[in-house]
Amino acid sequence: MTALVWFKKDLRLRDNLALSYACDNHKDILPVYIYDEKLNIGGAQKLWLHHSLTQLSDALNDGLVLKKGPPEKVIFQLIKDHNINAVYWNRGYTPYEMDRDAKIKEALKEKDIEVKSFDGYLLFEPHKIKNKQGSFFKVFTPFYKNCLDRPDPRDPIDKPKNLNCVKVKSESLDDWALLPTNPDWSKGIMGEWQPGENGAKKRLTNFINARIHKYGKGRDFPASDLTSMLSPHLHFGEISPYQIWQTARGADAPQGEINKFLSEICWREFSYYLLYYFPELPEKNWNPKFDKFPWDNNKSFLKRWQKGMTGYPIVDAGMRQLWATGYMHNRVRMIVASFLTKDLFVHWKYGAEWFWDTLVDADLASNSASWQWVAGCGADASPYFRVFNPILQSKKFDIDGDYIKKWIPELSKLDAKYIHAPWEAQKEILEKAGIILDKTYPAPVVDHAKAREKALAIYQQIK
Ligand SMILES: Cc1cc2nc3c(=O)[nH]c(=O)nc-3n(C[C@H](O)[C@H](O)[C@H](O)COP(=O)(O)OP(=O)(O)OC[C@H]3O[C@@H](n4cnc5c(N)ncnc54)[C@H](O)[C@@H]3O)c2cc1C
Repeated sequence: MTALVWFKKDLRLRDNLALSYACDNHKDILPVYIYDEKLNIGGAQKLWLHHSLTQLSDALNDGLVLKKGPPEKVIFQLIKDHNINAVYWNRGYTPYEMDRDAKIKEALKEKDIEVKSFDGYLLFEPHKIKNKQGSFFKVFTPFYKNCLDRPDPRDPIDKPKNLNCVKVKSESLDDWALLPTNPDWSKGIMGEWQPGENGAKKRLTNFINARIHKYGKGRDFPASDLTSMLSPHLHFGEISPYQIWQTARGADAPQGEINKFLSEICWREFSYYLLYYFPELPEKNWNPKFDKFPWDNNKSFLKRWQKGMTGYPIVDAGMRQLWATGYMHNRVRMIVASFLTKDLFVHWKYGAEWFWDTLVDADLASNSASWQWVAGCGADASPYFRVFNPILQSKKFDIDGDYIKKWIPELSKLDAKYIHAPWEAQKEILEKAGIILDKTYPAPVVDHAKAREKALAIYQQIK
């Protein structure tokens, strides 16, 4: 009899428990990816998904079956048409996925179809982690400590040896129209990334061999490229956190650097943990005091932020990196998010929405938790009165202005002394660098010092 393996955010053959179980216990498998439009993924994710599914299909010798529609309907149709007696998948942890999959599991059991789900997306499943009072952790450090006190995450498993796919008619990936047309903005993104399991493996190997030994300090400097850039691969499950965890633990690097990296992997776990216990995280302030926050939500400010035209070079460089590559360095994500919420007084939800559409690693848990963290309304948040100063952050983390120059070519001739705040340079210096403020590059959209005062005054009112 044939087993149906439902691929979701686990687009890989290695360390895929559902796939391996199916291959070990059934002669044939029917691997299916179901495009569920209710997940409402953003434009950059659609692009990634297209390429990742192409890679997975190749790895399965064209055996991957593509179907679009409500998963329950698709699964039952496949069962009816192809003599299937078992359905397996790896678990997802967003509220919609958990609810959907629980209903499908029930419906399958009622029809006496064998159904099993497996872990693989998270190292520590949220329902297993509780504090001493039996409640859930709201602060990262004790959560992380609790994770470390548990048995070490299991070793990853290899890809299955006996993988026989039944041939079933598939829809065409091109018909799903996941790729951008008119205009096609995918070039910069595809030049930067290699979606799929092989691309993920290369990123991990490169990071472990060449970067992890400098990760602790280096991770804060956007021009230095010292982070792993594994986030989109992890999001789509082209690599599992178990593979990353165990490879990093065995790296030939100082223990402190390895530990720092592992703790960042656990920030991803913590984000899912928060979403699990507070499913409204993408829409609702964790801290209800912020429900009264008088946001300005100025549309023209939001547009300037999205386009990288605020006049604050570090902010604009980040927003332009995002548009060009589908990615932004973590330090810069924090700076641009603080700027949107605490300098421009635009609600964090608009920022999260823009990230959702433009990031290749857009992830409901990490994006929502991180935006709330920066805005000051989240769990274990950066305190609201911590307003990132975009000039000081720029001077500290992009000392020579290399990151700014890369993404804002119109500032490339300006001396590092002035690049963090071009409006402070004398006219002649700007002229020499070919800059006319508000013509070739914008003057600052707001005065940071005044915006900061306003933010602190509002905070006094709502706290
Ligand atoms: C406003 C804002 C929005 C964000 N939105 C997302 C998002 O949609 N998707 C996403 O994956 N990350 C998001 N992050 C977290 C973080 O910026 C990215 O995970 C990181 O930049 C990815 O680069 P990397 O893989 O090189 O990270 P590395 O530094 O190499 O870290 C390794 C892995 O750990 C995880 N990680 C690292 N930092 C964090 C963090 N702060 N929170 C959660 N997980 C983390 C990621 O999975 C990452 O791939 C956001 C951060 C901010 C401030």
